[in-house]
Amino acid sequence: MSDALLQVSELTKHFPITSGFFSRPEAWVRAVDNINFEVHQGETLGVVGESGCGKTTLVNVLLNLIEPTAGQVIFDGIDLFGCSKKKLRELRQHLQIVFQDPFWSLNPRWLVKDIIGEPLKVHLDLKPGEFIKRVEELLEMVGLPDDAIYKSPHEFSGGQRQRIAIARALGINPKLLVLDEPTSAIDIFSQAQILELLKDLKKRLNLTYILISHDLSVVHHMSDKIMVMYLGEVVEYGPAEAIFNRPAHPYTKALLSAIPDINTESLDEISELEGNVPSAINPPIGCRFNTRCSEVMAVCMEKKPAVSDIGSGHTASCHLL
Ligand code: SF4
Repeated sequence: MSDALLQVSELTKHFPITSGFFSRPEAWVRAVDNINFEVHQGETLGVVGESGCGKTTLVNVLLNLIEPTAGQVIFDGIDLFGCSKKKLRELRQHLQIVFQDPFWSLNPRWLVKDIIGEPLKVHLDLKPGEFIKRVEELLEMVGLPDDAIYKSPHEFSGGQRQRIAIARALGINPKLLVLDEPTSAIDIFSQAQILELLKDLKKRLNLTYILISHDLSVVHHMSDKIMVMYLGEVVEYGPAEAIFNRPAHPYTKALLSAIPDINTESLDEISELEGNVPSAINPPIGCRFNTRCSEVMAVCMEKKPAVSDIGSGHTASCHLL
């Protein structure tokens, strides 16, 4: 048994590709394959990987928007896929998401009070005065003025809209927030402010985050633990400092070497990962990274690498270890 707030075991999601009159599956998209991780109260787990690595499917399974093919998700001690619908509705109150793009995630015809207030109406029984007070409290929490309450989303910048989305997600006191690329659709100046706001809110409200990003530097800035995904699998997992300072998997090393730092003098010094992520319908045999790995060996084409324990909760899957 674990005291983790969220415990994910052997989670797998394969989507069938069907054809013909009987819609028989012809092939399977192996979007998420046998994933294990846990998140403790007050922690931030950063999930990083290129597009096609399975991050979005993972989020959809965690939010119970799609059923897994196999595996288990225990949230706050309750099995998400084994509990009653009533219990699931209660649990979903404590599991909220902030989407990537605040331009489509907020209803343009609603006022801010309705956008932030919708979950309050669904889940809490507040009197009109209490309702407005709570919306004002949430606006203050995310650094927006009181008079934002009667405005529409189009009157705000991208960064301010993301603040509204965060206020909406916080309204019903969730235990876990999934942040799905929360800064990738907003300008560079607002990005830093939103990340600082999220860090501050986490401390003030003892929140737990799962931060999904393709950007390892954003994930490093925010996370206690990092999970690196490639083609539906976890290739490296562990404390953020260990992964950032002592990456063990060639894919993590390649992602890190693509980040410019203070000593980078020209773009030529930044090494780019070559090629594209292969199809999840026919992933490479053996190690799934073998088509792009600069350290590939014969064994990598035949045998899937086991998970190696590097110590202090740091693991990676590579034949070099
Ligand atoms: Fe590269 Fe082989 Fe390690 Fe895969 S198992 S990351 S191909 S060295």
